[in-house]
Amino acid sequence: MKQGKKKLLVAWLLAGLLAVCSLGGCGEKGPEWLSREVVEIDDNYRTWYEIFVYSFYDSDGDQVGDLQGVVSKLDYIEETGFNGIWLMPIMPSPSYHKYDVTDYTAIDPEYGTMEDFDVLVEECGKRGIKLIIDLVLNHTSSEHPWFTTACEYLAQLGEGQEPSAADCPYYEYYNFVKGDPSSTTWYRVGNTDYYYEGAFSERMPDVNLDCQAVRKEFEEIMSFWLAKGVGGFRLDAVKHFYAGMTSKNVEALAWVNDYVKSITPDAYMVGECWDGMMTYAQYYASGIDSFFNFEFADSAGIITKTLTYSGETNNAQAYAKALVRVQNAIREYREDAIDAPFFVNHDLARAAGYMRYDERKIKMSAALNVLMSGSAFVYYGEEIGMTGSGRDENKRAPMYWSGEAEEKGMTRGPLDMEPQENQFPSLSEQMENEASIYHFYKETILLRNQNPEIARGTVARLEDITDGDITAISKTYDGKTIYLLYNLSETEEKSITFPAEQYGYTEMAGYLSADGGEVTLQDDVVIMPSYSVVVLR
Ligand code: CA
Repeated sequence: MKQGKKKLLVAWLLAGLLAVCSLGGCGEKGPEWLSREVVEIDDNYRTWYEIFVYSFYDSDGDQVGDLQGVVSKLDYIEETGFNGIWLMPIMPSPSYHKYDVTDYTAIDPEYGTMEDFDVLVEECGKRGIKLIIDLVLNHTSSEHPWFTTACEYLAQLGEGQEPSAADCPYYEYYNFVKGDPSSTTWYRVGNTDYYYEGAFSERMPDVNLDCQAVRKEFEEIMSFWLAKGVGGFRLDAVKHFYAGMTSKNVEALAWVNDYVKSITPDAYMVGECWDGMMTYAQYYASGIDSFFNFEFADSAGIITKTLTYSGETNNAQAYAKALVRVQNAIREYREDAIDAPFFVNHDLARAAGYMRYDERKIKMSAALNVLMSGSAFVYYGEEIGMTGSGRDENKRAPMYWSGEAEEKGMTRGPLDMEPQENQFPSLSEQMENEASIYHFYKETILLRNQNPEIARGTVARLEDITDGDITAISKTYDGKTIYLLYNLSETEEKSITFPAEQYGYTEMAGYLSADGGEVTLQDDVVIMPSYSVVVLR
């Protein structure tokens, strides 16, 4: 090669390199796609952050998390990419978890005041974050005045005197029977002959949702919170409303849905029907927007199986098939059903344990959850791979903001929690490390927020491409189809021929890689490092 031509080549290479750098293609800025615009979200296909206020962030030094603590972390939540928040119960309650409510229109003093809540609603609104709160309709606290009044009434009845709702309306609010039903979920009212149903515990009497007066009370309660500006509700324990009676539960949920939407048409509701897909799918007939997708969650769910399967065949194939199967199952009951995928919540052990603290697998579990269609939910602390299993309190440990012993805002956690030792660094450390679990979560949510088809698209499998290691799917929304390829091989780089002309895509919209390796696209061939995901559009 002549000297002149060599110089020209060097100049051309340098220019090319500069062009790539100016797009953020090299150096510390990371790949170009990270700086793309996100799509403004104003519907209910969001990425939700589940917060246990008690263990989140303490604003006043008593080491119990509170609403002002959540307010002070809204910038963090927004920056991470969440555009929805689900607060576990915030109403007054004798328990630390507050799923047994004593007053449905107040704030538990441990968490602050109604003024604090107003500030939270306002600050969420400024950031475009939709706020939903936990609403427990299945049971109240045994210390709720409705219940204590009913029990006092029953206790003072004379010999042979029959109880009547005309004398005490609260008698009808619960399921009382005379005589011992000899069941482990029924409890005696003091020394009387009366018993009440408490499916979860003696301290959580089940509400009788057939009682019109109690429905009226709940309507006023829902209307109170909607007027406060909440964006909707997470509905607790919906399959227990009428134990084992799906059609009655669906009817009760249709009442909730119709009432709430008559006040706030764009309210979002998600129900907890802790059951298999064939059962929870039926609940969509109620009109409630979403039900949690228990099929993919937990230590024995599809995400865990996909990443920890050690057999010979087809874990990636099974994941792709399951995506379509769940979508079809819920749409059979409602065309516009919004799936509610999650991996872990406050009742389940933390994901890091299922993945045996394998950082690459934890990252991939985030992608397999957050890139699902629907409203994706992430439990606080999952974004840093927190630890917690065994008793419930351990699953609700303090958000690990910092490793500093005297760090401001750190909570003490539930009193009966066993000491938890996190296997991964604190958030403040992970924020400084671009290769951390936190940054992987953030990039996964960003990819979701940049491509509206990821949350809203109808999923189809690409059977020609999918194999035991490769999940290949399309997502179609609003006339546009995008493609997601997942290399789920733990060790092997994959080279996938994916003809642009045949599939009708023009570019790589972004990618995730558990090790930080690059995904490349050249001449219809996608090269994917092990444990990576790419979006083509
Ligand atoms: Ca506090």
